[in-house]
Amino acid sequence: MEQIKFLDLQKVNAAHGERIKRAAERVIDSGWYLQGGENASFEAEYADYIGTDHAIGCGNGLDALRLILRGYKELGRLKDGDEVIVPANTYIASILAITDNNLTPVLVEPDLQTLQIDSQRVGEAITERTRAVMIVHLYGRCAFNERIAALCSEHNLLLIEDNAQAHGCMFNGRRTGSLGNAAGHSFYPGKNLGALGDGGAVTTNDPELAAVVRALANYGSQKKYVFEYAGLNSRLDELQAAILREKLPLLDSENERRKELARKYIAGITNPKIRVPQTSDWSANVVHVFPIFSDERDRLQQYLAQNGVQTIIHYPIPPHKQHCYRQWNNLKFPITEQIHNQELSLPISPVMTDGQAERVINLLNSWI
Ligand SMILES: *Cc1c(COP(=O)(O)O)cnc(C)c1O
Repeated sequence: MEQIKFLDLQKVNAAHGERIKRAAERVIDSGWYLQGGENASFEAEYADYIGTDHAIGCGNGLDALRLILRGYKELGRLKDGDEVIVPANTYIASILAITDNNLTPVLVEPDLQTLQIDSQRVGEAITERTRAVMIVHLYGRCAFNERIAALCSEHNLLLIEDNAQAHGCMFNGRRTGSLGNAAGHSFYPGKNLGALGDGGAVTTNDPELAAVVRALANYGSQKKYVFEYAGLNSRLDELQAAILREKLPLLDSENERRKELARKYIAGITNPKIRVPQTSDWSANVVHVFPIFSDERDRLQQYLAQNGVQTIIHYPIPPHKQHCYRQWNNLKFPITEQIHNQELSLPISPVMTDGQAERVINLLNSWI
């Protein structure tokens, strides 16, 4: 029986063939490994792709978000203790970036249909101390909407996007990552645009923030050996930048293949014991993850594993139930908890075949 992996990274990168190897060779032979031409070119190309004035490469997605919040603190827009609204069902990195900056996360429940932060509840969560909203385009689905934008401008809040899972996703013809004040991106190998190691970027149209983030990521220095801020070392290395430059031009076609497979899943899965979220606007979903939901999620996962299909749960334990945030362990977020109890992510990637998707669908439909 052929095993169907959740994500076959070997095959994903092999599809780029010799281009990745030639890019790596170019860097190895150049003798220049940090803060060089590959990073500068990738920043320009990525800013152009996302549709922002600036992109700043950094070490990873968590750092991108940390740098944005720290940057706004240095600029006087945020201070210790300020509240930042964030979805309760996000990956923990979004929240770590907030607490790492001595800011206060205010967890808000998602909408069960869209799986994204519920804009009505965002409005209800705003207090005198709220200074920012961090939306997360979770599963590759756009979390931005006019309502959230209106709330942010009405209350003078920063709008920060966690775009780690949604490279290429759109809202009304604009890319996610260009919709708020600033966005954090991750190039972790398993993301839609993945490096062969860690990588990240900040995108923004705010020239002041861009300058501060660039300095903060380089020890707080704009001029060699002169330190304006107590910064950190978080850089995108030349090797990863060169590899990302080769992969970026193929991102849209890879996302299209993900969408084709997602459409097959949606049309094919008919088992009434499984809930499949619908998508009305395919430009607003780059299908980083294809989630399904079941009351008997764990039994379903076991059944698929026994039949050679690997799945993953995004995520088994919600942030408010984690030990690192034990002060929240008694809080109740029923929608978030339901998602964490029922969610199962099916295999999906640009290199998955129609035959593999059909096998997964047939298995799901014959599950009793
Ligand atoms: C992957 C991810 C991050 C963190 O990115 P890293 O590059 O792994 O640090 C942040 N937020 C979300 C939603 C993610 O999925």
